Amino acid sequence: MQVAPPTDNEEARLKALLDYDILDTEEERVFDELAQLASEICETPIALISLVDPKRQWFKASVGLDAKETPRDIAFCAHAIHQQNLFEVEDALQDPRFFDNPLVTNKPNVRFYAGTPLITPEGLAIGTLCAIDHKPKKLNEFQANALAILGRNVISQMELRRKIKLLKEHDKNKTAFLSNMSHELRTPLNAIISFSGLLIQDENQAVDDDKLREYLRHIEYSGKRLLGVINTVLDINKIEAGMMSLDPSPCNIRNLMSRLNGILALSAQEKHLDLQTDIATDMPKMIMLDEAKFGQIVLNLVSNAIKYTPPYKSVMVSLSNRQDRLCLSVQDQGIGICHADKAKLFSPFQQVGDNKKTQGSGLGLAITKSLVELMQGNIKVQSEPQFGSTFSIELPLHLPTGNTPEPSPVDSKPLFKPQSRILVVEDNEINQVVIEAMLATYNLSATIVDSGEAALEVLQDEVFELIFMDIHLPGMNGIETSEYIRKNLSPMPIVALSADTFEHERTKNSPSVFDDFLTKPVEGDKLLAVLTQYLSQN
Ligand code: ADP
Repeated sequence: MQVAPPTDNEEARLKALLDYDILDTEEERVFDELAQLASEICETPIALISLVDPKRQWFKASVGLDAKETPRDIAFCAHAIHQQNLFEVEDALQDPRFFDNPLVTNKPNVRFYAGTPLITPEGLAIGTLCAIDHKPKKLNEFQANALAILGRNVISQMELRRKIKLLKEHDKNKTAFLSNMSHELRTPLNAIISFSGLLIQDENQAVDDDKLREYLRHIEYSGKRLLGVINTVLDINKIEAGMMSLDPSPCNIRNLMSRLNGILALSAQEKHLDLQTDIATDMPKMIMLDEAKFGQIVLNLVSNAIKYTPPYKSVMVSLSNRQDRLCLSVQDQGIGICHADKAKLFSPFQQVGDNKKTQGSGLGLAITKSLVELMQGNIKVQSEPQFGSTFSIELPLHLPTGNTPEPSPVDSKPLFKPQSRILVVEDNEINQVVIEAMLATYNLSATIVDSGEAALEVLQDEVFELIFMDIHLPGMNGIETSEYIRKNLSPMPIVALSADTFEHERTKNSPSVFDDFLTKPVEGDKLLAVLTQYLSQN
């Protein structure tokens, strides 16, 4: 007897087989019927769908045989998977490879064997559809052809089965995601609505100044958390739609890390965690970097490290320069991640481990990985449950060309021309009040109109030094209005002010009708930067 050796592509073959997740599953009618057809067409008492794993052949379907599996070293199918086409043994007793095989000399007394390999779309033979008889035989051309067709159908059914499973899994993850998201959105909304309601109803001013500030802080914090959740969901959509692009500029990496540290230090302190940052001395001062995206990567990884590490432990962030690669590692002493969960970690909508007690959308690491890959880098995780995790990323390190002056920080006490003329085109009344109040903090006032048409009317008689333009407007939208201004009126800076972050991505890389883009809710420092650029006295 000859034992069939492992196939040349054994590792890939086994992986493909395991990926179907079909071994040791229940009987399924569609496979039983395909085996039945094989037995009837080939006119043999036995037909099997046999899948060959490292040790055995296991039968997904069988006709005329009670066994569920037999050892691989005596399996005819282990020979058949070396072929791309039909493997036929007309009389096993006359064949030196099989004459003394126990399957031939004992039950089920195989004399005739014909197996068509089950070949995956990648070309890997994971098993066979075979027909077996107790007497010598040869398939005619029609039977051989039909067996091959049925074999291809077995694989199609297995592919279909896998796709249905994936879809179900995806659906399950999305349902879990939505239920989690509902919680993530309702918690901060609850705080915002409840505290603002309390303040509105407080006609007798029972809420003292300290309480008032505390309530306002809760409202601000909850609003920011809400914004964070919304941005995360929008980001994953932008990534999936291929709309995320890079915007590198010269960056002082030490300053950036210290700013990020400032953002993270508070939550580390609240948990009494020792948050340390180490930047290698050979790290260049200025590098080319998309600061916002790199910042998001650092914030995601370090806030996870803080979130999943118990109090009084430490989190270490290090940045080094390894052969012109920027290496960031975030090491924690937290709960760690088990081996099985590591594979799921970077998929969207996946939360792993026991994280019922922590906040999160399960999107952070999926976004982080996509951002790292967008920057031509890679991300890895090493982790030991109970002992902690280390997330490491590597990015190509680019230096600015020429002598780039470091961007000077925005002056914190800006001086604007006292009578600066600003036009705000905004249809939402609350947003009108918000921008008016924000401008008032710099002693600036604005003419406010609620449509593109109204803006054009005002612009017939007046010239403005700066226009803030909402994009979604009733009638003429902000883009159409701005295009009209560009073509027909004297040049003036137009800054888009929109809550549509997708519009921002769309206009980013093409010549835009806007000089700048601010996203609502407007961050104070971004508004200040725009005002400084267009209205500064110097
Ligand atoms: P989430 O917003 O839920 O934190 P992430 O995508 O950032 O989503 O993380 C996915 C899951 O990975 C988390 O739910 C958590 O179980 C696990 N995880 C991420 N970072 C760590 C870490 N540093 N230590 C332990 N588990 C982590």
